[in-house]
Formats: sequence, structure tokens, C-alpha cells
Amino acid sequence: MTARSTFDCIVVGGGPAGLAAAAALASKGIDVALTAPAAPPPEPESEDAGSGALERPTETRTAALFPPAIVMLQRLGAWDAVAPLSAPLAGIRIIDATGQLLRAPEVLFRASDIGRGDLGFNVPNAGLAAALEKAVRALGVSLLADGKVLSTCEDDKFRSLELAGGRTVRARLVVAADGRNSMLREAAGISTSRWAYDQAALATRFSHSRRHSGISTELHGPEGPCTTVPLGERVSSLVWMDKPDVIAHLAAAPADELLRLLGQRLGGLLGTLSDLGARSVFPLAGLVAQTMGQARIALVGESAHAMPPIGAQGLNLGLSDAATLADLVAENSRLGTDIGSANLLAAYDAARSSDVHRRVNAVDLLNRSVRPSLWPLGLARGAGLHVLAAMPALRRRLMHEGLFPPPPVPSLMAMSADDGSAGVAAPARHPAT
Ligand SMILES: Cc1cc2nc3c(=O)[nH]c(=O)nc-3n(C[C@H](O)[C@H](O)[C@H](O)COP(=O)(O)OP(=O)(O)OC[C@H]3O[C@@H](n4cnc5c(N)ncnc54)[C@H](O)[C@@H]3O)c2cc1C
Repeated sequence: MTARSTFDCIVVGGGPAGLAAAAALASKGIDVALTAPAAPPPEPESEDAGSGALERPTETRTAALFPPAIVMLQRLGAWDAVAPLSAPLAGIRIIDATGQLLRAPEVLFRASDIGRGDLGFNVPNAGLAAALEKAVRALGVSLLADGKVLSTCEDDKFRSLELAGGRTVRARLVVAADGRNSMLREAAGISTSRWAYDQAALATRFSHSRRHSGISTELHGPEGPCTTVPLGERVSSLVWMDKPDVIAHLAAAPADELLRLLGQRLGGLLGTLSDLGARSVFPLAGLVAQTMGQARIALVGESAHAMPPIGAQGLNLGLSDAATLADLVAENSRLGTDIGSANLLAAYDAARSSDVHRRVNAVDLLNRSVRPSLWPLGLARGAGLHVLAAMPALRRRLMHEGLFPPPPVPSLMAMSADDGSAGVAAPARHPAT
């Protein structure tokens, strides 16, 4: 572990957004350190890396990542390690299971509708974090794995961080990727809009006898969607949203019982279900920071925005934050201006905040529109699905807006013609069958 205490930039947080931000900045030649809680010491006879390894909590989630995010992972050198664990998405199907009188038609968004081989890949979060950590090391980022930040203060030129390991480090710019309860966001005096949903999500995986054909299916029930996402040959990940007590029941149920209930919910779509994976539960909330940066702190990932897992927007947004910030910091560094300045942070906010607000609001609207108490919204949603089912041009436009960040596209995500039609970087195994 490095003994240095001053860096151009320090990223706080070892989740996927923090790791990607550190790799993105380092890939642009910026002097970066990453600080995150350390892994517990290894058992005496274990061959684990031990000292210097970052904390890696058990993770049952996967993330559907869109083409610009996959291109970014390729450019950061993280994709080859995670591609064999991932599955391409040939399409996303939305099925109305709200039981409302006017049932909306099924809508299928196919990659081929927009001339692509895939809409992105479903990537396991644990494999992604491991691949990004390897890329971060390869790019020369200084890893400070004694690094839970206990307190922070700012002077004229630097922001200092007191770390749990006992030392103090400082940088011109601190990137807060410390999650939705970010202590750095609070230290910067950035307020948030926050709201809770009377919903939770269960995340797990399962095997099935019928092929998914690369199609992710969102079954929109009255208390939230039950979504399957291809993960391997006849293996899918599951995100099941419902009221917190229902999700608690599903999380505690014997595996056979949960598979039976899931089979019932899917109505035979994936055939006989088996091999249920580990389960975890996520309470759902919405959050938007009032600005993306202030007081030498730039927010990236869930420190800036959180939303329910509908439409796979969360981490895709976090990666767009990281790529955008890396371009701005690189440009300012080249010009020799202060990379933690109020001007840079204002430019970062201007580049990101409308995209963040638009997506958080769209997910919020979609989530609320299925609730029985909001039936006028449900009618509008049903009508919207009718229109989408009937109008391919509108479907294509919505797909573009959902999958691609607005211009100017950050350089790490900019795609060439080759990145599209045949599918970006097809994985070595697990074809979507
Ligand atoms: C069920 C579910 C399914 C999802 N599916 C998708 C999907 O398909 N596609 C998609 O794009 N998104 C998806 N998301 C969203 C995605 O999982 C999140 O956006 C992403 O995991 C957030 O990553 P992050 O790095 O911002 O935050 P986190 O993963 O929360 O990381 C925060 C990090 O900060 C560290 N930290 C906290 N405090 C401190 C401190 N004081 N000092 C140092 N370090 C600190 C923590 O240890 C942690 O390492 C899903 C979410 C859920 C709940």
C-alpha cells in the first residue's frame, strides 16, 4: 500500500461506480487513489490476497448494462474478465399483469429493431467489481484499503480525508462514490430530495427448462414488476418487487416454495424452475442530489441518484457520471486549471443533472403507474403501451433514449459503427439460447 498522502484525485467507495470512476480517471492519465473499507483479515491458512484487498460484501445482484457501458468496460480493460460470466440481451418484453380492466398489450423491444445484435449484457455485480478492481490496479490507481473515511475538511487548495487506518490523505478533487447514505455528500453541504416506496426487491437467480432466447421479461404486477434477465444458458437472474412484507415472506420461504410461487407468477414462460441461488432483499427508495458537485466533492453513482430497479437505469447512470467526470478532469488537467474548482464542478453538474433527473423521474412514474390507487396513471400507462405496441418508430425512439446517454457522449462511451450491429464484444460462452 502506498505511503503517499497527496493525490490529484481521491475516489471514495469501492462499489462498481467508485471502481469505474477511479479506472476512468486513471485511464486519462490522472493521479488517482481509491479509498474503501478493507476486507476482513484472511483466515491464517487461507490463500486470499488479505492485506490490501477491498471489502467485498456478498452480492446477489446482476446489472443489465447497455452498449455504452459495455464499451466503457472494454476501454478500461475490465470487460474480458467479466464477459464469460455475462449474457447478451436480445430484447426486453413488458407484460401487463396488473389485472386492470383494460389490459395493456405485451410490448417487445428487440435489439434488431434498432439494427443491433444486442441491447447490452446482463453482468453479475460481484464479477464486475472483481474485474474493475483488477483494472484499477493495472491502471496504477493507488489503493488505500485502510480507507473508510471518518471525517473530511477543505482548505484553499485541497480536501483532506481522515481514514479509519489512522492516516490523513488529501486531493484537489474528491469523488464521492460512497453510496446512497454518502457522508461526503453531507460534508459538502449537498442536500437531496429523498422519498421512500412501500416496496422492496428480492434479487436472486434460478435455472429453467425453457429457453429465454436472450429476452428479459418484466411482468408488471399491481405492486411492482417481477423481472427475469438472461444470465446463462437456461439461467436467469430475478428481481421481484412487491410490498416489503410480501418480499420478506419470499426471502424466507423454502427454495421449493419460492420456485413454485415464481413459476405461478411467470405462468410457464420459462418452464420448470430449479437451482435457486442466494437471495437478498433491497428496500426501495428514490434520491436525487440537488447538485452533482460542490466544495471539491463530485458525486458519482448512488451518492447522487437512487431509484427502483426498473428499466435497468441505476448503474448505467453511475457509469455515465464516471465517464463524464473523467473527460472534464482530463481537460482541466491538460489546461493546468484546478481540477477541484467550482467551475469544473458546475460544468459536471450541467453535463449530468438533466439526464439524472429525467431517468429518475421516468422510473418513478413507471413504478407508480402500476399501483391500483393511481388508476388514472395506470390508464395513461396502458394507453402508452398500446401506442408503443402499434408504433415501431416510437418504440425505436424510446429504446435509443433508454439505452444511450444524451450528447455529448463521454469519450469512454463513444461508439464506433463496429460497436453496434453484431453486438459489442460477444462473450466467450453462455450464448443467449
Ligand atoms: C435489485 C436491484 C437490481 C438492479 N439492477 C440493475 C440493472 O439491471 N442495471 C443497472 O444499471 N442498475 C441496477 N441496479 C442499480 C445498481 O445495483 C446500483 O446503481 C449500484 O450497485 C450502485 O453502485 P455504487 O457504487 O454507486 O454504490 P454502492 O455499491 O453502494 O457502493 C458504495 C461504496 O462506498 C463505500 N463506502 C460507504 N461509506 C464509505 C466511507 N465513509 N468511506 C469509504 N467508503 C465508503 C461502501 O463500502 C461501498 O463500497 C439494481 C439495483 C437493485 C437494488
